[in-house]
Formats: sequence, structure tokens, C-alpha cells
Amino acid sequence: MRRLTSLLAAAALAASAGTAAAAVPGAPARPTVAEGAGARAAATPAPLAGRTIVIDPGHQLGNSRFPKRINRLVDAGGLRKPCNTTGTATASGFAEATFAWRVATRLRDALQAQGATVVMTRSLNSRHRWGPCVDVRGRIGNKGYRGRSRAADLKISIHGDGAARSGRGFHVIVTKKRGTVVRSLRLGRLTRAALDDAGFRRSTYTAGGRGIVRRSDLGTLNLSRIPTVMVELGNMRNPRDARTMRSSAGQRRYAQALAAAARRALQP
Ligand SMILES: [Zn+2]
Repeated sequence: MRRLTSLLAAAALAASAGTAAAAVPGAPARPTVAEGAGARAAATPAPLAGRTIVIDPGHQLGNSRFPKRINRLVDAGGLRKPCNTTGTATASGFAEATFAWRVATRLRDALQAQGATVVMTRSLNSRHRWGPCVDVRGRIGNKGYRGRSRAADLKISIHGDGAARSGRGFHVIVTKKRGTVVRSLRLGRLTRAALDDAGFRRSTYTAGGRGIVRRSDLGTLNLSRIPTVMVELGNMRNPRDARTMRSSAGQRRYAQALAAAARRALQP
């Protein structure tokens, strides 16, 4: 609905600009700044128009209140694992679920502004809700799942890590399983490059400084049939990372970097 509204607003703006131009036939060809900007906007189609991107904000804020549902074993792609986990938190109690949600909603807005259709694996961040499970998170966006006639173009799963206090930095996780591995690895490299460019440091405690890890034990990655990355954007137990992850400015920088990665991955 939000996207439809913004599209309608853009259409109305374009229509009124057209009407204004048509109303002054023979007027001197001296474009105002507004007209120039309008012409440029019209000449540049939204770069992600026609693309569908799945954003998976890790965990759900209420998971810890529903242990039975969260601990139920589900298919995680060749193994069975708990439906989900509670996620981690900073030392001051800022939850990973909320961090992931805030980065995800900023990322959603940035991608929609570029014309993309965005599918979120959860629609709210609530203490009174749980899930979805990792099997659902993994399959959302696949062709045929929930009646989807066409596969989504890519998926980004957003997390914060809960490692030893001394380690900091981001790492990108890519599947080891055959299928989407080549395209997911490409997306992983572009995501790492975008986070590098945004000034975030690579993990000091895993991935040997390469910033990318390949794993075969994550349902979110194993069950996805589209290029997918999971990002651990920082270590929430590390005070410096935690400060960045708690701040609006930090959340915005993470989202902008992920939007840049998606755009680079999808540009022709
Ligand atoms: Zn997580």
C-alpha cells in the first residue's frame, strides 16, 4: 500500500508537471530548476523497477516468550533445527530482533524508493509475537512458494552476532549447498564490498579477515532457491559495535550499504 501510494504521488506529480508545461505553449525555453529536475527524473527510470527483493529481519522480538513454539524442530534443508532462536542483545539489552527490524525497514524504504518490490519475512517487531520459523524464512521468495509464479531476485537476511566481547566487525554468510551457491557468493562479495566502502570493518574474530563465511547448517540459506546472503552486521556484545548498532545513524549506514549491494547485484 505504501508503495502504491508513493507511485500514485509520483504519477500525480508527473502529470501536474506535464500540465504546467503544456499550459504555456510558446513560452521561452528557459527551464526552471524544478523543470530541469523533473526532466532528469523522467529520463531515468527507477533502477530497481520490476525487481523483487526479500528482506529477512532476523528473529522476532517476542520469541523468548514462546519457547515451545520456538524450540519445535523444523526442516532446515537436510537437517532439523529449532524453528528459531531468541537472538542476541547488547549488554544494555538492545535486542537483535529490534536492530534487524530497524535496519530492514530502512533498507525496505531505500529499495522501494528505487522502484523495487520488497517482501518482508515478518511484518512487525513485537514482544507479543514469535517467528516465522527458519524454514519459512528460507522459502519465502522461491518460485512456487505461497503461490509465487516468479522467483524473487535476491534475499538479504539481517542479523547481529553475539560473540565474545573482544571481537568486532561484520561478516557475510553464504550457503555451501549446491544450487544458488555461485550467485549467492557473488551477492556475498558485493555485500562485503558495500560494507567495506561504507567504512564498516570486517570481523576480527571469524572468517580470517575475509569477511565471508560459507556454512551448510542454516535453514534460511539452505532452503532458499534465490541468491541469498545472511549478514552478521556487527558483534552486539562488543561495546564499540553495540554503540553503532544502537544508533539511528549506524542503522541508516548499514541499510544504505545493503541497498547499494542489492543495486550492484541487480544492475544489468
Ligand atoms: Zn541472529
